[in-house]
Amino acid sequence: MTTWPTERDHEVFAIIDAERDRQNTTLQLIASENFASPAVLEATGSVLTNKYSEGYPGRRYYGGNEVIDQAEELARQRACALFGAEHANVQPHSGAQANMAAYLGLLDPGDTILALRLDQGGHLTHGSPVSASSTFYRFVHYGVTPSDERIDFDQVRDLAAEHRPRMIVAGATAYPRVLAPEPFRVIADEVGALFMFDAAHVAGLVAGGAHPNPVPHADVVTLTTHKTLRGPRGGCILSRAEHAAAIDKAVFPGSQGGPLDHVVAAKAVAFGEAARAEFADYAAQVVANAAALAEALVGHGLRLVSGGTDNHLMLVDLRPLDPDLSGKKARLALDRAGISLNENTVPGDPRPPYITSGLRIGTPAVTTQGMREREMREIAFQIHRVLTSIGDDAELAAARDDVVTLCSKFAPYAAGA
Ligand SMILES: *Cc1c(COP(=O)(O)O)cnc(C)c1O
Repeated sequence: MTTWPTERDHEVFAIIDAERDRQNTTLQLIASENFASPAVLEATGSVLTNKYSEGYPGRRYYGGNEVIDQAEELARQRACALFGAEHANVQPHSGAQANMAAYLGLLDPGDTILALRLDQGGHLTHGSPVSASSTFYRFVHYGVTPSDERIDFDQVRDLAAEHRPRMIVAGATAYPRVLAPEPFRVIADEVGALFMFDAAHVAGLVAGGAHPNPVPHADVVTLTTHKTLRGPRGGCILSRAEHAAAIDKAVFPGSQGGPLDHVVAAKAVAFGEAARAEFADYAAQVVANAAALAEALVGHGLRLVSGGTDNHLMLVDLRPLDPDLSGKKARLALDRAGISLNENTVPGDPRPPYITSGLRIGTPAVTTQGMREREMREIAFQIHRVLTSIGDDAELAAARDDVVTLCSKFAPYAAGA
């Protein structure tokens, strides 16, 4: 007899049931979210969670790792094949851990890093004052042009020449356009800098062939496995072979303990799913849906940062619609209508990051559940309806009913899954 409790923990599992219901009956438009497949969920919930395996395949500090080694080796091989990389470290617990390990492995404390401004789409780990990244490294930031709101490569080049960074970082958490890796590589070579591409958001689009692959151009590419890539929550670092030893050492023992082997196995599942032809169709549909949603929102008179999108997300600038409507206020109203997204700064935003004047909207999750252009037009209608009825309880309730009806045809998870 095992010594586990025989009674079900109703308190916790009622909460999990409620969250599944929420995911099934509301619209998930947070650009960094997705619905993992049943196979990914199964691997994540497997007995591999029990194992300790500090180290790497064939070089562990504990016994009994002959099976775990196969899981991690498979994940590494699949990651390398999927992205055309020379080396993959699949152990980072998250995207932030992956970024910090990449810095730790390739830089010295106090080195200068050139990265995208946080209020124009960069990530906290790209030198936010509240992130440890800015404690250990000196960040200089480039931005987007005021005219077309795309990366200002003249500024990148000028800042690189002036500050001689040891590393240039490309990649964003809220940038609606293609981030071409080549111009960054050219500038990095001009000043002798390393080039890191943070593909946390676009990894799935890269895997599916809907976004240029940074791997051939960058020294190191970090990514999350849970955003467009649709795997378990986690991170991964791809690098050139010459950096492999430094990266591995920076992940373990540099910044983590034992890997989450159940998550590593689930990453292998996700890399396998992303290598399939259906995933290329999925990635293309994510982009097509974003374009359709953007076009419909513009049709309702909303202003989008840079005028539209060519990836999986768009940013609505609320100021022209209603100068008094903050991103936070809009998000709270949309939440009441069952539309889940996040407030986001827009370039030149006069409001602080926890209030903002914008909304970030993404299509990875709704595309996974099978929605297409027609549903994107319906979603745009409901978003505009809510934004123009903020104080109107009856109208928000009516929008909520319509959202439930729409979601009922596309529920990703069966009850009890
Ligand atoms: C999401 C994100 C990260 C961090 O990922 P976590 O798993 O949340 O730590 C890093 N960089 C970028 C650009 C991101 O969008």
